Amino acid sequence: MPVSPSGSEPDKKRTGIEVSIEEIEELADAYEIRAKYKIEVIFSRHRSSLAHKPSPCMVQIWESGKRLHGGGDQKMYWCGHDDCGWPISSDNFAHFHVVCPKCQKESFLDLDSKAQHMKNLRSRGINPQDLGRIPQVVGEKLVNLTPPDLARLLEKTWRQLDGLADIYLKYSPYEIRYDALHETTKDMDNLDKVRVQRKPLSYPLKNIMKDLSAGADLQGRLLMMITC
Ligand SMILES: [Zn+2]
Repeated sequence: MPVSPSGSEPDKKRTGIEVSIEEIEELADAYEIRAKYKIEVIFSRHRSSLAHKPSPCMVQIWESGKRLHGGGDQKMYWCGHDDCGWPISSDNFAHFHVVCPKCQKESFLDLDSKAQHMKNLRSRGINPQDLGRIPQVVGEKLVNLTPPDLARLLEKTWRQLDGLADIYLKYSPYEIRYDALHETTKDMDNLDKVRVQRKPLSYPLKNIMKDLSAGADLQGRLLMMITC
């Protein structure tokens, strides 16, 4: 609600303390915590919603609105060291490698960078043996997890991203759900039409914060989202 111009409500003198509900809501929106990151899960066509059955999927993390003047997301990576695995912004990338801000250890950007770097050392008469042990950063986590394990991974990743991420679940357009019991040849002919064109499920940070402040358990919420 716009602030009324002075004189429109002569009986109510503004003291600076009286504000309407609409004004409070407007303020709350203006000061809303902005999600800095996105966590995306992309399921393969073999997704199962059964709690005990693992489903293959790919997890990626993004910095929201970091590219193209706020119009695009910038991909993030994970530290390549198994005992760390912390999310790393590609802003930290150097020419061949990146130093993890968490464990301070080096990872290569990819295997080509590693090979190139080792070749350079060899040409300068340096034995690159130690470099051989340095891993490369992880761009996407390819996992095969049961819904509870995936919910655990998502909560862990969300917390590693300072609790400032939206979470998205995306489904394969080739995921097919049909009634096997009543399947007919005609149904098989029509398989293309029954492909699930399911929209991504999103759990925006605003809702996560609302749920958490109402005492909800994030992992439980994520599990519900994954199995629905
Ligand atoms: Zn690390």
